[in-house]
Amino acid sequence: MTEKLYLKDSYLRETNAKITNKNGSEITVDTDVFYPEGGGQPADSGKVLYKETEYPVKDIKKDGENIILMLDKEIAANEGEEIKEIIDWEKRYAHMKLHTAIHIIDGVLEKYYNSSLITGNQIYDDRARIDISMEGLTKELASEIIEKANAVILEGHEVNVKFLTKEEAANKNLVRTQPGKELMDTLSIIRIIEISGLDEQMDGGTHVKNTKEVGHINLERFENKGKQNKRLYIQLN
Ligand SMILES: [Zn+2]
Repeated sequence: MTEKLYLKDSYLRETNAKITNKNGSEITVDTDVFYPEGGGQPADSGKVLYKETEYPVKDIKKDGENIILMLDKEIAANEGEEIKEIIDWEKRYAHMKLHTAIHIIDGVLEKYYNSSLITGNQIYDDRARIDISMEGLTKELASEIIEKANAVILEGHEVNVKFLTKEEAANKNLVRTQPGKELMDTLSIIRIIEISGLDEQMDGGTHVKNTKEVGHINLERFENKGKQNKRLYIQLN
């Protein structure tokens, strides 16, 4: 089983790790700092270092409880040998800020509009897409929601990672979608992202430590996808 350091410390940029399995240009590692794609957050990019040679990481794959790094070429290191993993921090930090921004918007929807109706989201390097199911949501109302989210950012709420047992998680509203509920049922330890005083939910992504780090959310685009379904694109500055 690979130890996934990004689940506990999103700010970790590098680590030493051992190769536990090698298959051509793909290596399984005992310790991992690279985020694999999931929950709308893209995989990290970066490199692996072995004896001063750099191997760019093309993609990161989950294989059960293991993490496989897909390198651009076969590494000279063998199984059991140590390598260094280094993530592309600028890109990761952009993902962290956008991911926290989405949770803030979700928290604002819960708090002021009595409904968390985010049905999907996708983070890109420079923006994020948020799908909301909310009848009567107009561009003007979306702007109002974003303004409230910006006010939360300025209030400087702490963002905490917590690990709860099934029993501790049972009475909290930690998942809002059916697939999320089904996933939670299969887990014994549930990872929570808490925006202090605003929002708490089950999550596997990487986040900033304080809402202030998000900066300022701009509503870049609003799309009407039907009576219920609306799509927002946000950018940060
Ligand atoms: Zn999330």
